[in-house]
Amino acid sequence: MSYKIYFRIIAKGAIKYNFIMKIYDVLILGAGASGLMCASNLDKKLSIAAVDINSKIAQKLKISGGSKCNITNVHVSQNNYCGDSEFIANILDNFSKDDLLNYLHVNGVEPVIRKERYYFCKDSSDEIINIFKNNTRHVEILLCRDILEVKKSDDIFEVKTSKGVLMARNVVVATGGKSYKELGASDIGLEIAKSFGIKAKEFTPALVGLTVQKEQFWMKELSGLSCPVTIKVDGRILKEELLFAHKGISGPAVLSASLYWQKGNITIDFLPESNILELIKGSKKQLSSVIPLPKRLSKAILEALHVEDVECKKVTGEIREKLQKIHSYEFAPAGNFGFSKAEVCRGGVLTEELNQYTLEALDVKNLYFIGEVVDVTGELGGYNFQWAFSSGYVCAKAINNQ
Ligand SMILES: Cc1cc2nc3c(=O)[nH]c(=O)nc-3n(C[C@H](O)[C@H](O)[C@H](O)COP(=O)(O)OP(=O)(O)OC[C@H]3O[C@@H](n4cnc5c(N)ncnc54)[C@H](O)[C@@H]3O)c2cc1C
Repeated sequence: MSYKIYFRIIAKGAIKYNFIMKIYDVLILGAGASGLMCASNLDKKLSIAAVDINSKIAQKLKISGGSKCNITNVHVSQNNYCGDSEFIANILDNFSKDDLLNYLHVNGVEPVIRKERYYFCKDSSDEIINIFKNNTRHVEILLCRDILEVKKSDDIFEVKTSKGVLMARNVVVATGGKSYKELGASDIGLEIAKSFGIKAKEFTPALVGLTVQKEQFWMKELSGLSCPVTIKVDGRILKEELLFAHKGISGPAVLSASLYWQKGNITIDFLPESNILELIKGSKKQLSSVIPLPKRLSKAILEALHVEDVECKKVTGEIREKLQKIHSYEFAPAGNFGFSKAEVCRGGVLTEELNQYTLEALDVKNLYFIGEVVDVTGELGGYNFQWAFSSGYVCAKAINNQ
Protein backbone atom coordinates (compact mmCIF):
# COMPACT_ATOMS: atom_id res chain seq x y z
CA MET A 1 0.00 0.00 0.00
CA SER A 2 1.41 3.42 -0.81
CA TYR A 3 0.41 6.70 0.77
CA LYS A 4 0.75 10.23 -0.51
CA ILE A 5 0.87 13.46 1.45
CA TYR A 6 -0.07 16.83 -0.03
CA PHE A 7 2.17 19.70 1.02
CA ARG A 8 0.92 23.21 0.61
CA ILE A 9 3.78 25.65 0.35
CA ILE A 10 3.43 29.40 0.40
CA ALA A 11 6.15 30.79 -1.82
CA LYS A 12 7.01 34.21 -3.24
CA GLY A 13 3.97 36.46 -3.81
CA ALA A 14 1.77 34.14 -1.77
CA ILE A 15 1.36 31.76 -4.75
CA LYS A 16 0.24 28.36 -3.55
CA TYR A 17 1.94 25.24 -4.90
CA ASN A 18 0.69 21.79 -4.21
CA PHE A 19 3.44 19.13 -3.99
CA ILE A 20 2.70 15.45 -3.86
CA MET A 21 5.18 13.69 -1.63
CA LYS A 22 5.23 9.94 -1.96
CA ILE A 23 5.47 7.90 1.19
CA TYR A 24 7.10 4.55 0.51
CA ASP A 25 6.07 1.53 2.50
CA VAL A 26 9.74 0.57 2.79
CA LEU A 27 12.88 2.59 2.16
CA ILE A 28 16.08 0.57 2.13
CA LEU A 29 19.22 2.57 2.83
CA GLY A 30 22.06 0.92 0.91
CA ALA A 31 21.81 -1.22 -2.23
CA GLY A 32 24.51 -3.70 -1.22
CA ALA A 33 24.30 -7.39 -0.33
CA SER A 34 21.90 -7.20 2.63
CA GLY A 35 19.74 -4.38 1.24
CA LEU A 36 19.24 -6.16 -2.09
CA MET A 37 18.41 -9.49 -0.44
CA CYS A 38 15.86 -7.65 1.68
CA ALA A 39 14.40 -5.77 -1.33
CA SER A 40 14.18 -8.99 -3.37
CA ASN A 41 12.11 -10.71 -0.72
CA LEU A 42 9.71 -7.94 0.20
CA ASP A 43 6.10 -8.35 -0.83
CA LYS A 44 5.67 -7.03 -4.38
CA LYS A 45 2.50 -5.21 -3.31
CA LEU A 46 4.56 -2.84 -1.16
CA SER A 47 5.98 0.39 -2.54
CA ILE A 48 9.72 0.10 -2.02
CA ALA A 49 12.82 2.13 -2.83
CA ALA A 50 16.50 1.40 -2.25
CA VAL A 51 18.91 4.32 -2.03
CA ASP A 52 22.65 4.21 -2.66
CA ILE A 53 25.47 6.67 -3.15
CA ASN A 54 27.04 4.63 -5.95
CA SER A 55 26.02 4.78 -9.59
CA LYS A 56 25.59 0.98 -9.63
CA ILE A 57 24.20 -1.51 -7.11
CA ALA A 58 26.25 -4.07 -5.13
CA GLN A 59 29.72 -2.63 -5.64
CA LYS A 60 31.40 -4.65 -2.86
CA LEU A 61 29.69 -7.83 -3.93
CA LYS A 62 30.89 -7.21 -7.49
CA ILE A 63 34.61 -7.21 -6.61
CA SER A 64 34.42 -9.69 -3.73
CA GLY A 65 36.26 -13.00 -3.81
CA GLY A 66 38.36 -11.95 -6.80
CA SER A 67 35.11 -10.99 -8.61
CA LYS A 68 33.69 -14.48 -8.03
CA CYS A 69 32.17 -13.74 -4.61
CA ASN A 70 32.70 -16.24 -1.81
CA ILE A 71 28.98 -16.51 -1.05
CA THR A 72 28.95 -18.86 1.92
CA ASN A 73 30.72 -21.83 3.49
CA VAL A 74 30.13 -25.58 3.79
CA HIS A 75 30.21 -25.17 7.58
CA VAL A 76 28.33 -22.18 8.95
CA SER A 77 27.57 -21.67 12.61
CA GLN A 78 27.45 -18.85 15.12
CA ASN A 79 30.98 -19.93 16.16
CA ASN A 80 32.35 -18.46 12.94
CA TYR A 81 31.29 -14.98 14.03
CA CYS A 82 32.34 -12.33 16.47
CA GLY A 83 29.19 -11.13 18.25
CA ASP A 84 26.26 -12.36 20.36
CA SER A 85 26.08 -16.13 19.60
CA GLU A 86 22.42 -16.57 20.46
CA PHE A 87 21.35 -13.62 18.34
CA ILE A 88 23.45 -14.78 15.39
CA ALA A 89 22.20 -18.39 15.66
CA ASN A 90 18.63 -17.16 15.60
CA ILE A 91 19.05 -15.24 12.36
CA LEU A 92 21.10 -18.01 10.71
CA ASP A 93 18.46 -20.59 11.70
CA ASN A 94 15.81 -18.53 9.96
CA PHE A 95 17.75 -18.30 6.72
CA SER A 96 20.53 -20.88 6.77
CA LYS A 97 23.31 -21.74 4.37
CA ASP A 98 21.00 -24.39 2.85
CA ASP A 99 18.20 -21.86 2.49
CA LEU A 100 20.65 -19.55 0.71
CA LEU A 101 21.85 -22.31 -1.62
CA ASN A 102 18.24 -23.21 -2.35
CA TYR A 103 17.41 -19.54 -3.05
CA LEU A 104 20.32 -19.39 -5.51
CA HIS A 105 19.27 -22.71 -7.11
CA VAL A 106 15.68 -21.56 -7.59
CA ASN A 107 17.09 -18.46 -9.26
CA GLY A 108 19.32 -20.49 -11.58
CA VAL A 109 22.70 -20.07 -9.85
CA GLU A 110 24.73 -23.12 -8.81
CA PRO A 111 27.82 -22.09 -6.81
CA VAL A 112 30.96 -24.21 -6.90
CA ILE A 113 32.93 -25.40 -3.87
CA ARG A 114 36.59 -24.39 -3.71
CA LYS A 115 39.17 -25.77 -1.27
CA GLU A 116 36.49 -28.18 0.02
CA ARG A 117 34.58 -25.50 1.94
CA TYR A 118 34.12 -22.18 0.19
CA TYR A 119 31.11 -21.60 -2.07
CA PHE A 120 31.95 -19.27 -4.96
CA CYS A 121 30.08 -18.14 -8.07
CA LYS A 122 31.09 -20.38 -10.96
CA ASP A 123 32.19 -17.58 -13.30
CA SER A 124 31.44 -14.17 -11.85
CA SER A 125 29.76 -12.33 -9.00
CA ASP A 126 27.39 -10.96 -11.67
CA GLU A 127 25.52 -14.26 -11.30
CA ILE A 128 24.28 -13.07 -7.88
CA ILE A 129 23.91 -9.43 -8.92
CA ASN A 130 21.68 -10.53 -11.82
CA ILE A 131 19.42 -12.42 -9.40
CA PHE A 132 18.98 -9.21 -7.44
CA LYS A 133 18.39 -7.18 -10.62
CA ASN A 134 15.65 -9.63 -11.67
CA ASN A 135 14.08 -9.81 -8.24
CA THR A 136 13.97 -6.09 -7.57
CA ARG A 137 12.01 -5.03 -10.64
CA HIS A 138 9.25 -3.90 -8.26
CA VAL A 139 11.74 -1.70 -6.36
CA GLU A 140 12.75 1.87 -7.25
CA ILE A 141 16.54 1.95 -7.18
CA LEU A 142 17.66 5.50 -6.42
CA LEU A 143 21.37 5.77 -7.19
CA CYS A 144 23.98 8.54 -6.77
CA ARG A 145 22.28 9.76 -3.58
CA ASP A 146 24.23 10.37 -0.42
CA ILE A 147 22.13 9.50 2.65
CA LEU A 148 22.62 12.30 5.15
CA GLU A 149 20.12 11.95 7.98
CA VAL A 150 16.99 10.11 9.12
CA LYS A 151 14.26 11.60 11.31
CA LYS A 152 10.90 10.33 12.43
CA SER A 153 7.83 12.38 13.11
CA ASP A 154 4.64 10.63 14.12
CA ASP A 155 4.82 7.33 12.21
CA ILE A 156 6.66 8.61 9.16
CA PHE A 157 10.41 8.58 8.55
CA GLU A 158 12.04 11.42 6.63
CA VAL A 159 15.30 10.49 4.97
CA LYS A 160 17.41 13.43 3.93
CA THR A 161 19.61 12.69 0.91
CA SER A 162 21.86 14.78 -1.33
CA LYS A 163 18.97 14.82 -3.84
CA GLY A 164 16.10 15.68 -1.54
CA VAL A 165 13.99 14.17 1.19
CA LEU A 166 12.32 10.75 0.91
CA MET A 167 9.53 9.55 3.18
CA ALA A 168 8.65 6.06 4.36
CA ARG A 169 6.71 4.07 6.92
CA ASN A 170 9.55 1.57 7.37
CA VAL A 171 13.26 2.21 7.07
CA VAL A 172 15.84 -0.56 6.71
CA VAL A 173 19.40 0.58 7.39
CA ALA A 174 21.68 -1.58 5.21
CA THR A 175 24.58 0.82 4.77
CA GLY A 176 27.31 -1.70 5.69
CA GLY A 177 30.67 -0.98 7.34
CA LYS A 178 33.13 1.78 6.55
CA SER A 179 36.01 -0.09 4.90
CA TYR A 180 36.77 0.51 1.19
CA LYS A 181 35.49 4.08 1.13
CA GLU A 182 36.01 4.23 -2.64
CA LEU A 183 33.13 1.75 -2.97
CA GLY A 184 30.68 4.08 -1.23
CA ALA A 185 31.27 2.85 2.33
CA SER A 186 30.49 5.16 5.26
CA ASP A 187 29.49 5.02 8.88
CA ILE A 188 26.15 6.76 8.26
CA GLY A 189 24.40 3.67 9.66
CA LEU A 190 25.98 4.27 13.05
CA GLU A 191 25.16 7.98 12.87
CA ILE A 192 21.52 7.13 12.15
CA ALA A 193 21.43 4.65 15.05
CA LYS A 194 22.96 7.17 17.45
CA SER A 195 20.56 9.92 16.35
CA PHE A 196 17.72 7.67 17.57
CA GLY A 197 19.48 6.91 20.85
CA ILE A 198 20.38 3.37 19.69
CA LYS A 199 23.74 2.23 21.06
CA ALA A 200 26.50 1.26 18.64
CA LYS A 201 30.17 0.31 18.84
CA GLU A 202 32.53 2.33 16.62
CA PHE A 203 33.77 0.43 13.56
CA THR A 204 37.32 -0.95 13.59
CA PRO A 205 39.04 -2.70 10.66
CA ALA A 206 38.75 -6.52 10.56
CA LEU A 207 39.71 -9.26 8.10
CA VAL A 208 42.82 -7.24 7.51
CA GLY A 209 46.58 -7.76 7.49
CA LEU A 210 48.60 -7.14 10.64
CA THR A 211 51.62 -4.89 10.94
CA VAL A 212 54.61 -6.06 12.98
CA GLN A 213 56.97 -4.59 15.55
CA LYS A 214 60.71 -4.15 15.01
CA GLU A 215 61.55 -7.65 16.33
CA GLN A 216 59.43 -9.17 13.56
CA PHE A 217 60.65 -6.97 10.70
CA TRP A 218 62.27 -10.14 9.32
CA MET A 219 58.76 -11.10 8.18
CA LYS A 220 58.58 -8.06 5.89
CA GLU A 221 61.78 -9.21 4.15
CA LEU A 222 59.90 -12.33 3.05
CA SER A 223 57.21 -10.37 1.20
CA GLY A 224 55.50 -12.58 -1.38
CA LEU A 225 56.19 -15.93 0.33
CA SER A 226 53.37 -17.91 1.90
CA CYS A 227 52.97 -21.06 3.98
CA PRO A 228 50.19 -22.97 5.77
CA VAL A 229 50.08 -22.15 9.48
CA THR A 230 47.85 -22.29 12.50
CA ILE A 231 47.40 -19.09 14.47
CA LYS A 232 46.21 -19.05 18.07
CA VAL A 233 44.49 -15.85 19.11
CA ASP A 234 42.10 -15.08 21.93
CA GLY A 235 41.31 -18.79 22.50
CA ARG A 236 40.66 -19.48 18.78
CA ILE A 237 42.79 -21.62 16.49
CA LEU A 238 42.78 -20.64 12.81
CA LYS A 239 44.31 -22.91 10.19
CA GLU A 240 45.04 -21.51 6.71
CA GLU A 241 47.73 -19.84 4.62
CA LEU A 242 49.86 -16.98 5.94
CA LEU A 243 51.21 -14.52 3.38
CA PHE A 244 54.27 -12.42 4.20
CA ALA A 245 53.64 -8.88 3.00
CA HIS A 246 55.42 -5.60 2.52
CA LYS A 247 53.67 -4.11 5.56
CA GLY A 248 53.65 -7.23 7.78
CA ILE A 249 51.58 -10.41 7.53
CA SER A 250 48.41 -11.17 5.65
CA GLY A 251 46.71 -14.12 3.91
CA PRO A 252 43.57 -16.02 4.98
CA ALA A 253 44.87 -17.20 8.39
CA VAL A 254 45.94 -13.70 9.40
CA LEU A 255 42.77 -12.04 8.08
CA SER A 256 40.61 -14.36 10.19
CA ALA A 257 42.94 -13.92 13.19
CA SER A 258 42.56 -10.14 12.89
CA LEU A 259 38.89 -10.55 13.74
CA TYR A 260 39.76 -11.77 17.22
CA TRP A 261 42.93 -9.71 17.82
CA GLN A 262 42.69 -6.32 19.48
CA LYS A 263 46.05 -6.20 21.22
CA GLY A 264 48.47 -8.62 22.92
CA ASN A 265 50.12 -11.77 21.61
CA ILE A 266 49.27 -14.20 18.85
CA THR A 267 51.03 -17.56 18.43
CA ILE A 268 51.96 -19.04 15.06
CA ASP A 269 52.76 -22.67 14.31
CA PHE A 270 54.83 -22.53 11.10
CA LEU A 271 54.77 -26.33 10.70
CA PRO A 272 51.26 -27.42 11.65
CA GLU A 273 51.48 -30.67 9.68
CA SER A 274 54.85 -31.91 11.01
CA ASN A 275 56.94 -32.19 14.14
CA ILE A 276 60.31 -30.45 13.92
CA LEU A 277 62.00 -32.93 16.28
CA GLU A 278 60.80 -35.87 14.15
CA LEU A 279 62.04 -34.15 11.00
CA ILE A 280 65.60 -33.74 12.26
CA LYS A 281 65.85 -37.22 13.82
CA GLY A 282 68.70 -39.18 12.16
CA SER A 283 69.10 -36.64 9.32
CA LYS A 284 72.55 -35.70 8.03
CA LYS A 285 71.27 -32.53 6.32
CA GLN A 286 71.42 -28.89 7.44
CA LEU A 287 68.48 -27.75 9.58
CA SER A 288 67.19 -25.37 6.88
CA SER A 289 67.09 -28.27 4.40
CA VAL A 290 64.88 -30.55 6.48
CA ILE A 291 62.31 -27.88 7.33
CA PRO A 292 59.59 -28.36 4.66
CA LEU A 293 59.28 -24.66 3.82
CA PRO A 294 60.91 -22.47 1.16
CA LYS A 295 64.61 -22.29 2.05
CA ARG A 296 64.58 -18.49 2.44
CA LEU A 297 61.73 -18.80 4.92
CA SER A 298 63.34 -21.68 6.86
CA LYS A 299 66.54 -19.70 7.21
CA ALA A 300 64.69 -16.57 8.36
CA ILE A 301 62.73 -18.52 10.97
CA LEU A 302 65.91 -20.17 12.30
CA GLU A 303 67.48 -16.75 12.62
CA ALA A 304 64.42 -15.40 14.42
CA LEU A 305 64.66 -18.32 16.85
CA HIS A 306 68.41 -17.60 17.34
CA VAL A 307 69.29 -21.03 15.99
CA GLU A 308 72.36 -21.53 13.82
CA ASP A 309 71.75 -23.46 10.60
CA VAL A 310 73.86 -26.45 11.67
CA GLU A 311 73.72 -30.10 10.55
CA CYS A 312 70.90 -31.96 12.26
CA LYS A 313 73.31 -34.37 13.97
CA LYS A 314 74.95 -31.38 15.72
CA VAL A 315 71.68 -30.24 17.33
CA THR A 316 72.08 -30.00 21.11
CA GLY A 317 69.42 -30.11 23.84
CA GLU A 318 69.43 -26.31 24.00
CA ILE A 319 68.92 -26.01 20.24
CA ARG A 320 66.10 -28.57 20.34
CA GLU A 321 64.32 -26.43 22.89
CA LYS A 322 64.67 -23.30 20.75
CA LEU A 323 63.64 -25.22 17.62
CA GLN A 324 60.34 -26.24 19.17
CA LYS A 325 59.34 -22.59 19.10
CA ILE A 326 58.76 -23.08 15.36
CA HIS A 327 55.43 -24.56 16.51
CA SER A 328 54.66 -21.71 18.91
CA TYR A 329 56.20 -18.46 17.70
CA GLU A 330 54.61 -15.87 19.96
CA PHE A 331 54.62 -12.10 19.38
CA ALA A 332 52.45 -9.01 19.61
CA PRO A 333 51.51 -7.44 16.25
CA ALA A 334 51.85 -3.65 16.10
CA GLY A 335 48.46 -2.90 14.50
CA ASN A 336 46.61 -3.55 11.26
CA PHE A 337 46.67 -2.34 7.64
CA GLY A 338 43.67 -0.02 8.26
CA PHE A 339 40.17 0.56 6.82
CA SER A 340 41.40 0.93 3.25
CA LYS A 341 42.54 -2.70 3.21
CA ALA A 342 39.98 -4.25 5.60
CA GLU A 343 37.39 -6.59 4.05
CA VAL A 344 34.94 -5.82 6.85
CA CYS A 345 34.49 -3.84 10.04
CA ARG A 346 34.09 -5.08 13.57
CA GLY A 347 31.58 -3.11 15.64
CA GLY A 348 28.21 -1.68 14.65
CA VAL A 349 24.72 -1.39 16.12
CA LEU A 350 24.56 -3.42 19.33
CA THR A 351 22.45 -6.55 18.94
CA GLU A 352 20.91 -5.92 22.38
CA GLU A 353 19.18 -2.93 20.75
CA LEU A 354 17.50 -5.13 18.10
CA ASN A 355 14.71 -7.71 18.05
CA GLN A 356 16.44 -11.05 17.43
CA TYR A 357 13.60 -12.34 15.23
CA THR A 358 13.02 -9.27 13.05
CA LEU A 359 16.08 -6.98 13.38
CA GLU A 360 13.76 -4.09 14.22
CA ALA A 361 15.10 -1.57 16.73
CA LEU A 362 13.51 -2.38 20.10
CA ASP A 363 12.81 1.27 20.87
CA VAL A 364 12.08 2.66 17.39
CA LYS A 365 9.16 1.00 15.68
CA ASN A 366 9.61 0.22 11.94
CA LEU A 367 13.35 0.99 11.94
CA TYR A 368 15.49 -2.03 11.02
CA PHE A 369 19.25 -2.69 10.83
CA ILE A 370 20.72 -5.48 8.68
CA GLY A 371 24.08 -6.67 7.34
CA GLU A 372 27.47 -5.37 8.37
CA VAL A 373 26.08 -2.28 10.12
CA VAL A 374 25.03 -4.68 12.91
CA ASP A 375 27.67 -5.69 15.48
CA VAL A 376 28.15 -9.15 13.93
CA THR A 377 31.33 -9.94 11.97
CA GLY A 378 32.23 -13.23 10.34
CA GLU A 379 35.54 -14.95 9.70
CA LEU A 380 36.98 -15.11 6.21
CA GLY A 381 35.24 -17.67 4.00
CA GLY A 382 31.80 -16.41 2.94
CA TYR A 383 30.50 -15.82 6.44
CA ASN A 384 29.90 -12.10 5.96
CA PHE A 385 27.76 -12.52 2.86
CA GLN A 386 25.87 -15.31 4.61
CA TRP A 387 25.15 -12.88 7.46
CA ALA A 388 24.18 -10.08 5.03
CA PHE A 389 21.82 -12.41 3.13
CA SER A 390 20.33 -14.07 6.25
CA SER A 391 19.68 -10.77 8.01
CA GLY A 392 18.27 -9.19 4.83
CA TYR A 393 15.90 -12.09 4.26
CA VAL A 394 14.73 -12.28 7.89
CA CYS A 395 14.02 -8.53 7.90
CA ALA A 396 12.02 -8.75 4.65
CA LYS A 397 9.85 -11.55 6.06
CA ALA A 398 9.25 -9.54 9.25
CA ILE A 399 8.11 -6.49 7.25
CA ASN A 400 5.88 -8.67 5.03
CA ASN A 401 4.23 -10.07 8.17
CA GLN A 402 3.51 -6.68 9.72
C1 LIG B 1 37.44 -6.37 -1.19
C2 LIG B 1 36.36 -7.10 -0.42
C3 LIG B 1 36.14 -8.45 -0.67
C4 LIG B 1 35.16 -9.13 0.07
N1 LIG B 1 34.96 -10.46 -0.19
C5 LIG B 1 34.04 -11.14 0.52
C6 LIG B 1 33.77 -12.51 0.23
O1 LIG B 1 34.27 -13.08 -0.75
N2 LIG B 1 32.87 -13.16 1.04
C7 LIG B 1 32.23 -12.53 2.08
O2 LIG B 1 31.42 -13.18 2.78
N3 LIG B 1 32.43 -11.22 2.34
C8 LIG B 1 33.31 -10.52 1.58
N4 LIG B 1 33.49 -9.18 1.83
C9 LIG B 1 32.64 -8.53 2.86
C10 LIG B 1 31.28 -8.22 2.26
O3 LIG B 1 31.44 -7.51 1.05
C11 LIG B 1 30.43 -7.39 3.23
O4 LIG B 1 30.42 -7.98 4.49
C12 LIG B 1 29.00 -7.27 2.71
O5 LIG B 1 28.98 -6.62 1.45
C13 LIG B 1 28.13 -6.51 3.70
O6 LIG B 1 26.86 -6.32 3.14
P1 LIG B 1 26.04 -5.01 3.53
O7 LIG B 1 24.81 -5.04 2.72
O8 LIG B 1 25.93 -4.90 4.99
O9 LIG B 1 26.97 -3.81 3.07
P2 LIG B 1 27.46 -3.41 1.57
O10 LIG B 1 27.38 -4.56 0.66
O11 LIG B 1 28.75 -2.74 1.80
O12 LIG B 1 26.34 -2.36 1.14
C14 LIG B 1 26.19 -1.12 1.78
C15 LIG B 1 25.73 -0.11 0.74
O13 LIG B 1 25.41 1.12 1.39
C16 LIG B 1 25.86 2.19 0.60
N5 LIG B 1 26.11 3.36 1.44
C17 LIG B 1 26.93 3.46 2.52
N6 LIG B 1 26.87 4.71 3.02
C18 LIG B 1 26.01 5.41 2.24
C19 LIG B 1 25.55 6.75 2.24
N7 LIG B 1 25.95 7.64 3.16
N8 LIG B 1 24.66 7.12 1.29
C20 LIG B 1 24.21 6.25 0.36
N9 LIG B 1 24.64 4.97 0.29
C21 LIG B 1 25.52 4.55 1.23
C22 LIG B 1 27.14 1.68 -0.04
O14 LIG B 1 27.41 2.36 -1.24
C23 LIG B 1 26.81 0.20 -0.29
O15 LIG B 1 26.32 -0.03 -1.59
C24 LIG B 1 34.42 -8.46 1.08
C25 LIG B 1 34.64 -7.10 1.30
C26 LIG B 1 35.58 -6.41 0.56
C27 LIG B 1 35.80 -4.95 0.82
